[in-house]
Amino acid sequence: MKYIHEYRDAEIGRKLLARIRQRSTRPARLMEFCGGHTVGIAKHGIRQLLPETIEMLSGPGCPVCVTANADLDKAIALARLPDVIVTTFGDMVKVPASRSSLQQVRAEGGDVRIVYSTQDALDIARDNPSKSTVFIAVGFETTAPTVAASVLQAGQQGIDNYFVLSQHKLCPPVMKALLDSGEVKLDGIICPGHVSAVIGSRPYEFIPRDYGVACVVSGFEPLDILHCVDMLVAQIENGEPRVEIAYRRGVKPEGNQVALELLYRVFEVCDGNWRGIGAVPDSGLRLRSEYQQYDAERVFEIEPGEPVETRGCICGDILRGVKTPLDCSLFRVVCNPENPVGPCMVSSEGSCSACYQYGDGDGR
Ligand code: SF4
Repeated sequence: MKYIHEYRDAEIGRKLLARIRQRSTRPARLMEFCGGHTVGIAKHGIRQLLPETIEMLSGPGCPVCVTANADLDKAIALARLPDVIVTTFGDMVKVPASRSSLQQVRAEGGDVRIVYSTQDALDIARDNPSKSTVFIAVGFETTAPTVAASVLQAGQQGIDNYFVLSQHKLCPPVMKALLDSGEVKLDGIICPGHVSAVIGSRPYEFIPRDYGVACVVSGFEPLDILHCVDMLVAQIENGEPRVEIAYRRGVKPEGNQVALELLYRVFEVCDGNWRGIGAVPDSGLRLRSEYQQYDAERVFEIEPGEPVETRGCICGDILRGVKTPLDCSLFRVVCNPENPVGPCMVSSEGSCSACYQYGDGDGR
């Protein structure tokens, strides 16, 4: 297939669904790790089309959603410093943290700017030499190479008022943490497409080997997801879990070596702090000591205060796959895209937002 509409072909979709129904004889619980897949599944009604044997859960693959309040509080504390411009992607601005949000700080006079790329943040730093520009870097292995490139570019161009607050996270370690917790028993994982374009499919090999859980990397179009589910069901029915790629046009087993080299030239692995999951060993990225002059956490003295969770919001449980948006008493009643109480409603990739927007059945 060559064109995007071909990945939405209804006739091929019907054939794939018929094959999945025919193949699926035993209960199988699948988790889509990535927020992009959560949206695709909800938008195209895939959950409702699958046979009852297949249960679909959403995982912690929305970078905005998994950013813990403690980390958001740091961004807010930075935005309150004089002569500091905080730059970040749009969704982050609206996420309520412990006591405020970046949007609120901006309303109170703080200089918080939405950018579309790290290049925009570098331009702001260049145009405001008397101020410090901090980029709030959230995202997985997909976005970290771009942020790494911005740090190198700042060095090459002598931009010494550009800083990064790294809240990047790594996917395979948190998958391991979820599987180790045993809280949710999974039979298969729909592995993220964009992350895998960078890291490849090999980092998931421990999952079938150590946990007996099937893994297939998926693209984001409806036929991509159905193809992925079909491959997962085949593995589960045959009792032969392994790592496969259903997104060959975007992902190679070895990943993108250029992006990985860039990422690990600037960042090193550290523990990551995930909303609802807590500290996960080796699941975060911090700037290497060679680049510490760009590290906002090292350069600025901030007192973000003790983190506080929003009462009634169950985003943490939803991100672990143990609850769904419909289990939240605030869903739709109090919490909606106009008045988001938690990040899963703020982010365009959040489960609550997808469930609200597309009325995704029982949210599972
Ligand atoms: Fe949090 Fe709102 Fe989702 Fe409830 S519906 S879990 S309050 S984001």
